[in-house]
Amino acid sequence: MTVLSGPSGVGKSTVVREIRAQHPEVWLSVSVTTRAPRPGETDGVEYRFTDDAGFDGMIARGELLEWAQFAGNRYGTPRAPVEERLRSGQPVLLEIDLQGARQVRETMPEALQVFLTPPSWEELVRRLTGRGTEPPEVIQRRLDTARVELIAEKEFDTTLVNTSVDEVRERLLALIGLCDEG
Ligand code: 5GP
Repeated sequence: MTVLSGPSGVGKSTVVREIRAQHPEVWLSVSVTTRAPRPGETDGVEYRFTDDAGFDGMIARGELLEWAQFAGNRYGTPRAPVEERLRSGQPVLLEIDLQGARQVRETMPEALQVFLTPPSWEELVRRLTGRGTEPPEVIQRRLDTARVELIAEKEFDTTLVNTSVDEVRERLLALIGLCDEG
């Protein structure tokens, strides 16, 4: 199992999307969240969208492998599907925030923990601002969090600098043990 973490806006989702396009056998966990869908997001695809009560219920029933509060919303990884895929021997990928990565480090120490970092602070600001899907105060909140989160790199098994999506994809595939041509 591989955990991909890093500050919001660093490009985790893009990297994961590219990996999945090339290697559909890599199973990506679909998280549950209380955040509202962004335009273009479909329930059950990017996330399973729920409300606070639904999320509380999942916590109470022990259905989440990990969960975190992030920028005013909650996000969690449903446990059962992950365990099922691991039992079947499929490569499993979790794209989660730092708090979640810390929890998985405790409960599943065998998982490879990968930190994705931006080439520079300016680049992260550019990406988060340029996304155009969040209001300024949400962007500011994510940037404040990112500033603190960047120093968490040392907790991880390995760091990938997101200079180019292609390069990060290839390096991550190699780490997962799925090498492509070149
Ligand atoms: P976004 O709102 O941009 O989709 O996600 C915000 C942050 O939550 C990102 O850093 C993303 O990796 C993280 N995230 C998404 N799903 C999960 C999850 O299931 N658990 C945790 N801990 N973080 C998640």
